[in-house]
Amino acid sequence: MGVANILLALALLLAVIASTLATIRWIRSANRARQSEQLVWQILDINQQGLIRLGMDHEILDVNNQACLLLEQPRTALLKRSIFAFIGQGKLPGLANAAAAASAGSVECNLSVASGKVFPCRIASSGLANKHGKPVGTLILLRDLSGQAQQAAYLSRMATIIQHTTEGVMMMDKNGHLDMVNPAYSTITGFNPEDVLDKAPQFLRYGQIWAELISAGHWQGEIINRRKNGEAYPEWLTLDAVPGMEGEAQRYIGLFTDVSHMKKSEDELKHMAHYDALTDLANRTLMSIQLDMALERAARRTNKLAVFALDLDGFKAVNDSLGHHAGDLLLQKIAARLKATLRGEDVVARMGGDEFAMIIENPPSAIHIGHLAEKIIAAVGKPMDLHGNRAHVTASLGIAIFPQDGQDASILLKAADTAMYASKQAGRNTYRYHDDEMTKAANQRMTLEQGLRQALENNQLELCFQPQVNIRTGQVPGVEALVRWNHPDQGPIYPAEFLSVAEETGLILPLGEWALRLACTQVQSWVQEQLFTGSVSINVSGQQLEQGDFFSMVKRVLAETGINPKRLAFEISEGILLRNTKRVMAELGQLHTLGVSIVIDDFGVGYSSLTYLKYLSAQGIKINQRFVLGLPGDKNDAAITRAIIAMGHSLGCDLIAEGVETEAQQTFLADQGCLLAQGLLYSKPITADEFRNWLRERQLRTVPDAPCTDILPFGRRLADSDGDEAGEGRQGDAPGHPRWWQ
Ligand code: C2E
Ligand code: MG
Ligand code: MG
Repeated sequence: MGVANILLALALLLAVIASTLATIRWIRSANRARQSEQLVWQILDINQQGLIRLGMDHEILDVNNQACLLLEQPRTALLKRSIFAFIGQGKLPGLANAAAAASAGSVECNLSVASGKVFPCRIASSGLANKHGKPVGTLILLRDLSGQAQQAAYLSRMATIIQHTTEGVMMMDKNGHLDMVNPAYSTITGFNPEDVLDKAPQFLRYGQIWAELISAGHWQGEIINRRKNGEAYPEWLTLDAVPGMEGEAQRYIGLFTDVSHMKKSEDELKHMAHYDALTDLANRTLMSIQLDMALERAARRTNKLAVFALDLDGFKAVNDSLGHHAGDLLLQKIAARLKATLRGEDVVARMGGDEFAMIIENPPSAIHIGHLAEKIIAAVGKPMDLHGNRAHVTASLGIAIFPQDGQDASILLKAADTAMYASKQAGRNTYRYHDDEMTKAANQRMTLEQGLRQALENNQLELCFQPQVNIRTGQVPGVEALVRWNHPDQGPIYPAEFLSVAEETGLILPLGEWALRLACTQVQSWVQEQLFTGSVSINVSGQQLEQGDFFSMVKRVLAETGINPKRLAFEISEGILLRNTKRVMAELGQLHTLGVSIVIDDFGVGYSSLTYLKYLSAQGIKINQRFVLGLPGDKNDAAITRAIIAMGHSLGCDLIAEGVETEAQQTFLADQGCLLAQGLLYSKPITADEFRNWLRERQLRTVPDAPCTDILPFGRRLADSDGDEAGEGRQGDAPGHPRWWQ
């Protein structure tokens, strides 16, 4: 082998080695490229978008998993196939082919796949080129839009709901400021969005709602909200916190409904449940609820309460003869009459059929209840017109009184019912109390009242006079006027029997005026006859001071009769001071200005506060006969009498004892310094004529030499200016006469 051959062989060997090395390098780099491409596609597999690489003749060179899923084909079925087998040509704009490079572009279209499913899809394409810029294919991106479309559709549906719902919807930021309200919000509240946005809604002013919303993330309940026009309305409100990533509230959503119409129907339902549909009066259910409540109040305030049960007499006859329509109308008319007869606060109920019941809370007096019963009976008994027919029914009434007839609602209603049957048995069109005694007493009171009214009109009342004597001098500085009722059949009736009725019925006002006028006239005439120079005491009842215009009445009578006011003393019983203290005090204060005296009657039996006595500046205190009775033997009576006298003196009051019947009582009183006395020891109350004779006789008998001086009790003297009092002709105490009360 020559050198040339060896060199050729070496050259060939080197070429083979070089080419082998190059092949190995190429294989390595191709492997690396292949590996990195696989890696890229593995990464692309994770992508949510479908990726397809096409060659220049549109055959599929590569796909990622998502593309397989979207096209519903395994990878092997796709590779090397034309893309047009899966996606229509029209949906793939700008694909690169031998003639032209791909241009980038995208379309949104509905793609139908192997199973026949059609879904919205975005298809984007982009040309691929090698490193020399030569087109090598196209990359296609598929994005399934169905999720997005669903969400968009969902959001649009939600927006439609919020826009069109009749519930108010609002959104607030985390500070509670509104940043969205729906049209219903404006419809319900009257506020436009611009009125309220960036402001806190009204209900957050209730700090409690805000606090609960923050702490619990939720609040629900009924609130009273106010519309822009100021109208308040009930609103059912739900508030929820919307938590952010960290769980803390980012914003708040509120939903509310105007429930005023529901409330109305709720109220209507309640009304139906509690009211009688025909008469609109309370029904039995409401009646017992209201009676329970009224009884509770009465028990707490120790008030009385009356329950009336009323049953119509003759209703069935009307119903049968004129028909049910007329019957219904009658019941309605009776309901209206009952309501009109009672006070607004009294309860009238229809218990069923032709039965009614009434609750009278805190009736002013027993006599008031009787009057009311009579008024009701009279109202029901009036004839009525029913569709042109005259009808007439009457009422049988039963009355039960709390607490004496029962303590609870059902017992009282039953008691009233029993009494109502008693009325039926007694001949109907009348009333009965559950307690027989009460019926008797009520009848007596009624008769008494009617009698007293007639007595006032027919001059059956008479004024008697009882002298008030000075124990030491025997003079008669005063006289007490006491009323008597000379009943044509029953003879004389004493005040104890009729005064309470007179007070309850208000008859005490005309009676009191009559007594005052007569007493003043009488005394004035004795003064003018120079028979009597003292004063007259008139008893005044609490009602007179509280109800009437007592002061004006007194002024009028003083002017009419011309009597010197210093000859007038008003006896006020101790108990009156405890009643309407302010009014009584004011009235008495005015009386003082007239110059009349005030004497506290029946002192010691009530609860006189010494403070009242001081403010009253009474001129006299009358020791009650109850204490005088036991004198001088009863230690207690003696002690009390002594104490009253001492107290009276220290207050600068004159003292007079009533009910003095014995010398021993008189001596005891005089010894203690009480020099004025009144009682059977001197004279019982006697008529004016008898008193005139009594005075004459006494003047002749006991103090023949005593001149008729103006001697007045209760610290009174007739001042010089009064000296010209008609016919008196005397002024002050005569010289040499000790003041009789000292
Ligand atoms: P009073 O003002 O405390 O009157 C005293 C009562 O004792 C009188 O009863 C009188 O008749 C009676 N009496 C008089 N002396 C004696 C006695 O020695 N022993 C006993 N045991 N009783 C004696 P009368 O007349 O029945 O009057 C009773 C009450 O009626 C009076 O009590 C007075 O509060 C009231 N009253 C009388 N007349 C009137 C009046 O015109 N208006 C007013 N508002 N009340 C009057
Ligand atoms: Mg008296
Ligand atoms: Mg008395």
